[in-house]
Amino acid sequence: MSIQVFGVPVSRGVAIGRAVLVASSRVDVAHYYIAPADIDNEIERLRQSRNAVADELSTLQRELPSDAPAELAALLDVHLMLLHDESLTGATKHWIRDRHYNAEWALSAQLEVLARQFDEMEDDYLRERKADLEQVVERLLRALTRSQPGLGAGAEPRDFAGEDPLVLVASDIAPADMIQFKRSVFSGFVTDVGGRTSHTAIVARSMDIPAVVGAREASRLIRQDDWVVIDGDAGVAVVNPSPIVLDEYRFRQRQSELERARLDRLRNTPAVTLDGKVVELLANIELPGDAPGALAAGAVGVGLFRSEFLFMNRADNLPDENEQFEAYRAAVVAMQGLPVTIRTVDIGADKPLERMSAHELRHEHALNPALGLRAIRWSISEPSMFRQQLRAILRASAYGKVRILIPMVAHLREVQITIEALNRARQQLDEVGRAYGPVELGAMIEIPAAAISIEMLLPHFDFVSLGTNDLIQYTLAIDRADEAVAHLYDPWHPAVLSLISSTIARARDHNCPVSVCGEMAGDPSFTELLLAMGLRSFSMHPAQVSAIKQRVLRADTAKLEARLVDVLNSPDPARAAQEHLGGGTN
Ligand code: PEP
Ligand code: MG
Repeated sequence: MSIQVFGVPVSRGVAIGRAVLVASSRVDVAHYYIAPADIDNEIERLRQSRNAVADELSTLQRELPSDAPAELAALLDVHLMLLHDESLTGATKHWIRDRHYNAEWALSAQLEVLARQFDEMEDDYLRERKADLEQVVERLLRALTRSQPGLGAGAEPRDFAGEDPLVLVASDIAPADMIQFKRSVFSGFVTDVGGRTSHTAIVARSMDIPAVVGAREASRLIRQDDWVVIDGDAGVAVVNPSPIVLDEYRFRQRQSELERARLDRLRNTPAVTLDGKVVELLANIELPGDAPGALAAGAVGVGLFRSEFLFMNRADNLPDENEQFEAYRAAVVAMQGLPVTIRTVDIGADKPLERMSAHELRHEHALNPALGLRAIRWSISEPSMFRQQLRAILRASAYGKVRILIPMVAHLREVQITIEALNRARQQLDEVGRAYGPVELGAMIEIPAAAISIEMLLPHFDFVSLGTNDLIQYTLAIDRADEAVAHLYDPWHPAVLSLISSTIARARDHNCPVSVCGEMAGDPSFTELLLAMGLRSFSMHPAQVSAIKQRVLRADTAKLEARLVDVLNSPDPARAAQEHLGGGTN
């Protein structure tokens, strides 16, 4: 039966594929197809890992101290029984043999099938055995990686012609796991939770794959292997569509591919408006590996390198100065002399560090992480890590044009500490004779207080960049990652527009370069409005550069600027923008 699951559209386009259901904790399990000739080897890997886990469990059982509670021995019996049950390892072979899934993926797929059966059981005791099954699978996955590691999540996926395309369905995907996703086989995804500017959504847009988040019931309603259409424009997942609906979506898929190919032709065209104003179109990146794509897309620099992605999924082993330096240098070199704006870590809120202490984590959950120890506040609380990052960035500046961007600035004291840390970092490099170049210092304007009192900040910075994602979150008191309030997250709210407009105007009055690096910069619905406000620098996902350029090429800034007041004074700015600027919602 065909059903539709509605959520929040976050990344445009249409993806059609078979559903792979993944528990949130297992998004990082390697998913790849094996060659038909490798089926027997893969089944052998599975068999060996089962034997290894059986040995592990038997040893545990043998070595149980005599005074151990009887429940523990019984539990190990249950685990051994589950391990040898045909419905687990036996059925897992079917995914390998018939679908050509690698063993880890086959095991996770079978776990999802069985987990649902457990969920539907009437008997409480039996239902609770699901946790035991998960533990057994966890052991098997570990044994698989130990014995003969398959293709790790970080390796290049192999594509085998004729295999069905795949879409991922999960309750949630952490921003850190999205980075692994960048190299996986999935052509789209849908999650139960999340909002339009959650970092998971942002990474989806940077990968340019169709995605829907906040589709609350998706992972319950969609079954392993269902055919799913992900409509990233409308924010809906269509499960097991009828042939007519499927045809319609295939048509739309072809149309959007044609549209992209057409826009791609603008790649090398300079972004200049009809009245001759040059507009700078920069790229947002998460990892140095994204830089060549930014260049290829026609970006004239990196306006935001979210350096915290280097720190995620790293447990206790955070990148040291040299590792960071290599990463920043790689991005700088890849940009071939174009400017690279490196933002110091924006850890916290929906991007926690794995190594955060239990104390910090408790607070993450109990209090309000978006208002907590985030971004520059976190860096200031870790002074030696802050200086280490600044040294790494300074060293990279010997290889090209580098700018440092400080997230979540609101207090003058934070600015003073940052400048002191930067001076100290320079001094430390001088002491060891390491080279560094000149760097400009910029502030993200993303807290309403910073936007309102921008004159206080401007004298200390060489440039400012508006983080509209957070500016909207904090102005409207809407958690950007919470699907329950996603409908209230409104970039068109007059208060938001007033803050953006006045920030741009006041920065320009002080001859301070200003850009926007939040999602609004890459959304064509806002291009005319931002140009009308006087913005001449936009930073966005590389995939958006051509679409925004197309709007710029058709714009006349003199006319737009003259009509801005009608939009800002309107109680319904979205409609007024459409009427007066020819832009507005798409
Ligand atoms: C923003 O807040 O607009 C921004 C660009 O930073 P991030 O999305 O990483 O918080
Ligand atoms: Mg931000």
